[in-house]
Amino acid sequence: MAEILKGAPVAKSIKERIKAEAESLRQQGIIPTLGIIRMGNRADDISYEKGVIKNCESVGIQARVFEVSADTPMDEFVEILKNVNEDNNIHGILMFRPLPAHIDYEIVKNLIDPRKDIDCMNPINLEKVFEGELDGFVPCTPKAVIEVLKHYNIPLVGANVAIINRSMVVGRPLSMMFLGESSTVTICHSKTKDLPKVTANADIVVGAVGKAKMLGIDYFSENSIVIDVGINDAGEGKICGDVDYDNVFENVKAITPVPGGVGSVTSAILLSHVIIACKNIVK
Ligand code: NAP
Repeated sequence: MAEILKGAPVAKSIKERIKAEAESLRQQGIIPTLGIIRMGNRADDISYEKGVIKNCESVGIQARVFEVSADTPMDEFVEILKNVNEDNNIHGILMFRPLPAHIDYEIVKNLIDPRKDIDCMNPINLEKVFEGELDGFVPCTPKAVIEVLKHYNIPLVGANVAIINRSMVVGRPLSMMFLGESSTVTICHSKTKDLPKVTANADIVVGAVGKAKMLGIDYFSENSIVIDVGINDAGEGKICGDVDYDNVFENVKAITPVPGGVGSVTSAILLSHVIIACKNIVK
């Protein structure tokens, strides 16, 4: 029977740290503040925004929403972003994506102030990750994976890790973070030959395929530590991971559930970045 690596205790301990740091900043007269830029009124953006605001309030971070109409022209949108960039009372910026088609994301991502870039959109911050500078703004989901493993004292030094994903938001930055922990990393993808053999031989397997329950017991061994990053529609308003949890659960060493695993830690990482941003701005 596998150990269940739940996200909630990991998120709780990160949030406790943030709360103490936010309190200390407030005592110095600084209110750590997140600026949320939302273009349009998409239901999933609004629901995510509500969650972020609630999370911010729970740790003493102030959230300010900049609601921009979905048909705002590119030049006006750039002006709004520049104003938020230059506002010294806003420390971190979260911009919901995808942006409408008429907004050039390639330009926008380069404009966001790298010191306020809590979601690691600006290539300057992403480049740092690939240079091994991992204590700044790193992509939140990969960071959440590492935090879960560390929280449960899973050894990373020398561990063989197989990541099934080569995207810029998950697999590639995550591979750099594992290298930073002196793990040995194999990055897998849709063209990887004999994928189950590769993953079953790894100590840690990270699944981020985006295909519901694709990873069955043949992808793992009884010694596998399984981290499921996938968020898939399971019907009836439910979500599931990439791992066939019910069948795999009894045949591996440890596993993250979906929901209640990596995803619940990701939002805590985002909040921790607001504190880093606040310290960057006020120093
Ligand atoms: P993505 O860009 O579509 O990447 C999917 C990866 O899976 C690609 O590298 C792809 O290979 C690989 N893949 C697809 N089919 C495969 C197969 N049959 N065998 C092996 N590899 C296969 O997606 P993403 O944006 O990185 O997100 C991946 C998943 O993570 C999604 O379920 C997403 O919802 C979830 N996610 C979760 C969080 C969180 O906080 N938990 C955050 C972000 C994303 P190729 O490169 O060869 O196409």
